[in-house]
Amino acid sequence: MSNKYYKYEFDGIFKCGHKGTIKQGGYTRDYAESIASKEFKDNVCPDCIEKEKQAQYKKEADIAEENAKKLGFPDLEGTDKQVQWALNIRKELSEKAQNIIDNAEDKELRYLKQIYKDYFYEDDDSLKIRVDLRESLEELLKEKTSSTFFINYNWKIKNLNTEAIIVITKDFLPKIKNKIEKEKEEKAREEELKRDQTIHPENYNETDILIKADDYIKIRTPQYKVAMVTIREYGYKWDNPYWVKKITQFTEATEDRIAEIANKLLAEGYGVRFMIDNYKRVQDLAINGYFKQENTRWIFYNSKFELLQIVLNWEDDLYEEAKRIPDARWLKGTGMLVPLKSYKEVLDFADLYDYKISPAAKEEIEIKMNEIEKTKINVVEKEQFDKNKKLKEILNSKSDLLDDLKDN
Ligand SMILES: [Zn+2]
Repeated sequence: MSNKYYKYEFDGIFKCGHKGTIKQGGYTRDYAESIASKEFKDNVCPDCIEKEKQAQYKKEADIAEENAKKLGFPDLEGTDKQVQWALNIRKELSEKAQNIIDNAEDKELRYLKQIYKDYFYEDDDSLKIRVDLRESLEELLKEKTSSTFFINYNWKIKNLNTEAIIVITKDFLPKIKNKIEKEKEEKAREEELKRDQTIHPENYNETDILIKADDYIKIRTPQYKVAMVTIREYGYKWDNPYWVKKITQFTEATEDRIAEIANKLLAEGYGVRFMIDNYKRVQDLAINGYFKQENTRWIFYNSKFELLQIVLNWEDDLYEEAKRIPDARWLKGTGMLVPLKSYKEVLDFADLYDYKISPAAKEEIEIKMNEIEKTKINVVEKEQFDKNKKLKEILNSKSDLLDDLKDN
């Protein structure tokens, strides 16, 4: 006789009439079969078990829903399954929480107040905390419509205690509500300012560019390449994450510079946000084109070389003209350098090609002018004096006229 325990598989029909398989072990096949056939007779199939479970769950959810309606709770959002689950969880929360709050000890509430400092005010006493918790629970049950909210707190609600209630209802506690409200207001104000600061042109291409200013004008585009060619053309350099242009006395009014580039960007279809204090005014300048164009033609004084320096812009093509100024020499990486003694030609050049002269260059030119003028005046005075003297002599003795002329 065999003492070995075997596992057998039996096909059969469950109580519910569905076919299925049961695994059953035993020392003899007869014994295993008798157990299996009893199982088939007494039980419904696994599918029917699952269906029954779901039906029971649905029934509970339906009851929960009905109760919820009576209590004034809102419908929940989510898939059918989520809603069913969440209805049961919410029911559990509403049934358990009230009791826990009512029975919480003052000592526990005071302790929890210390732990959750951000949720309660310093001078809240246990009575106030109890009232706050009750009210925030009530509000939560009336306002939360997301199934996932309840599902996420499933575990906490299964193990509900005062601390769990605080965590679950926190968004409805007065202190947090105030904070949330303030943040909302702040955000709304920011949004409004953003709308106000931004201009969209008629040919808007759905891309916004931001302009800020401090010591630099800073332009921020969604990507490096957006409007890159234009921005570069206006003398901006890439300094991640901005395109920047330093504000100096030579770039002149910041407002004009911002309006100038903004005008161009708007014309190209970009939205422009003017993130600056006086944005209304600059927007106006940019829209109407009332800005003064940037002067890129400058004559500086180069104190290192003690020479005048003419900035030559590639697109102006004035190299040959500048080179014609006496003693002008081209210094790569610096510009056209000209000695001060050629100031007359430099001033003519400036006049002809609409160049501006920097204050330092102006000062140096004036000094040079005065030097030259002084020597000139001396010469002229001397000549005049001599001429007068000669004239007197001539007038005095006409007979010497020929000889005098010979001297000259
Ligand atoms: Zn079945």
